[in-house]
Amino acid sequence: MTAGRGDGAGARRPGGSEGPGRNSALIGVRAVLLDVDGTLIRGDAPAEGGHPLPGAAALLRWLRRRDLPYLCFTNGSTRPPEVYARGLRELGLEVEDDRVMTPPVVAASLIRRRWPGAAVLALGGEGVTEPLRRRGIAVTTDPQRWEEAGVVLVGWDREIDYRRLEAACRAVWAGAAFLVTSAAPEFYLRGGRGIGLSAAIAAAVARVTGRRARLVGKPSPLALREACRVLGVAPERLAVVGDDADMEVRMGRRGAGLSVLVRTGISADRDLERGPAHLRPDLDLPDLTHLLALLEASWALPGDGVPGESPSRARDRGPRGRLGHNE
Ligand SMILES: [Mg+2]
Repeated sequence: MTAGRGDGAGARRPGGSEGPGRNSALIGVRAVLLDVDGTLIRGDAPAEGGHPLPGAAALLRWLRRRDLPYLCFTNGSTRPPEVYARGLRELGLEVEDDRVMTPPVVAASLIRRRWPGAAVLALGGEGVTEPLRRRGIAVTTDPQRWEEAGVVLVGWDREIDYRRLEAACRAVWAGAAFLVTSAAPEFYLRGGRGIGLSAAIAAAVARVTGRRARLVGKPSPLALREACRVLGVAPERLAVVGDDADMEVRMGRRGAGLSVLVRTGISADRDLERGPAHLRPDLDLPDLTHLLALLEASWALPGDGVPGESPSRARDRGPRGRLGHNE
């Protein structure tokens, strides 16, 4: 099979292939982070229709069968994670509620760690507020209560207006921590571009206050850390899979794990060979079917079907049954 565009699989890792369709870069992978829009599905958002992209359903089935931990990480903050999960299931992708992570989930973890007891002024709907509330964080969206806020979290706020913008600025001026869910100026939308509303609002607040927002979404170190914590893996054991070189490739390279670009979304026609090294993926593939084929070939366990061997045992043992070969 072809590994992808350009040099394809293992291009940055000489000797990346060992045998037909096999890729050594995938052997050390112990968990997978999957982007949603442009990677698993194409559409506005999971809960607003769209359709699964090639290989998405089969890859998720394979990951579950192999007991390989995975998370679907969207930078969207319009809905709580379980609503995204439900939307994915409605499109035929079997994703459990706790397999979806969004930036407000990362923010909740950070707030509890860094500013315990702080109240949060949230710019956004329930996708921003619910993950915080669920973790016992006091949240308000009421602009009149900005003085209580120890943290301002900017997300996808369709109701943004003068009062909300002013409240966020006043809280930041008064010393509140300033967080944003996404720094992306645009995102993939039905083959075109959608505007990155969270980034736009945060840029307005930053312009007024002179303070830069701290990013909690992809590709930030905070997002990487939280995903690895939930998945129970070190960053170098994580494969980050997505359609956006600026997001998933950057994040995968940041963690020194494996970065996998699929050409089904925003970076479909982007020439990365001439770009900076940190945006060049380890694997550059047309779509998820190619990733699944590589995983199947790389993870061809001699122990497959051995009576009594649990999938988690197979996972601990690693691909090809070489016990601890890469520890
Ligand atoms: Mg994407």
